[in-house]
Amino acid sequence: MKKKIFVFILVLAVTGTALAQKAFKSWNKNLVIAHRGAWKTQNLPENSIASLKEAIRIGCFGSEFDVQLTSDGIPVVNHNADFLGKDIATSTYQELITYKKLGNGESIPTLEEYIKAGQGQKKTKLILEIKPQKNLDNEIVLTKKVIETVNRLKAAPWIEYISFSYDICKYLIDHVPGARVSYLKGDVEPAKLKADGFYGLDYHYSVFEKTDWLTKAHELGLIVNAWTVNADKDMLRLIEQKADYITTNEPELLFEKIKK
Ligand code: MG
Repeated sequence: MKKKIFVFILVLAVTGTALAQKAFKSWNKNLVIAHRGAWKTQNLPENSIASLKEAIRIGCFGSEFDVQLTSDGIPVVNHNADFLGKDIATSTYQELITYKKLGNGESIPTLEEYIKAGQGQKKTKLILEIKPQKNLDNEIVLTKKVIETVNRLKAAPWIEYISFSYDICKYLIDHVPGARVSYLKGDVEPAKLKADGFYGLDYHYSVFEKTDWLTKAHELGLIVNAWTVNADKDMLRLIEQKADYITTNEPELLFEKIKK
């Protein structure tokens, strides 16, 4: 009897996850991913909630952001290991918010605040980069915190994961069923990524000039994203090569290119 109840609950859980994914078909159908949000044109701070909202406003498919971990275990959104000069891994969250603010007056966003700001809509995905940490233990602690936050907020349908750390990527693939995980570093060939369960590869655009990995990845059914593409000629070439997504500091310019 116990076994039957267990199976019933399992079926409910799996169906629930599938339905949650299926319910969201409203994502913008373009290849534009704003790198650290759309900040440049409006002179907003990178990785601010304001830059996320701007990426949503201009209709990007995705808005990318970076996640670090404070000494007291709070995932926060920031590119560098330091927040405006203060080391994040050895600072508490309270120390960071009393230290300085972003240029627009925002405090350093927590991952929770950032995700909640994105969950008000279902058009722009949240492209969550987990930053490599000082050692593997710290990387796993941060990754677990990210997974816990995403699960608690029921945010899985919004999230796609990226990382330069292969260990972080593998942890996500092994522990988050259905997670869309792409690797950033550019040093692993598509066949290995496919074998290791990746959703895609998100490499510097120069990698696709030097190799045939864009074509190879597509043959294997992997999704191809390229970073950080800011010049017309690089955008046009990647559009022609049918890259699935292009990550850029110039989302408005990329929108102009795909209109043509
Ligand atoms: Mg990033």
